[in-house]
Amino acid sequence: MATMITDVCINCGACEPECPNGAISQGEEIFVIEPSLCTECVGFEHRESCAAVCPVDCCLPDPRIVETEDALLSRAKALHPDVVFPDPPPSRFRRAPER
Ligand code: SF4
Repeated sequence: MATMITDVCINCGACEPECPNGAISQGEEIFVIEPSLCTECVGFEHRESCAAVCPVDCCLPDPRIVETEDALLSRAKALHPDVVFPDPPPSRFRRAPER
């Protein structure tokens, strides 16, 4: 699923700089996520970076846009052709390693 920002958003802007793909921008009323740029942070983090910093928990999986981990990783690779992603990649589909 792409991540979406719900109307609970308070426009704090905390999420925007956290996105590895530049998918978040200020919309007409609240911040918005461009689904074609969202990879749910697969390849970069074990959870969605925007959701991790949101103070009101309004960055949520969009049930209308369901995508597989492979599809999201392929998008990450297309968006970042110079990045060598770990195998397996960090992903919300897997638990973070115990520390
Ligand atoms: Fe960007 Fe990750 Fe949030 Fe998607 S889930 S909008 S890739 S920070």
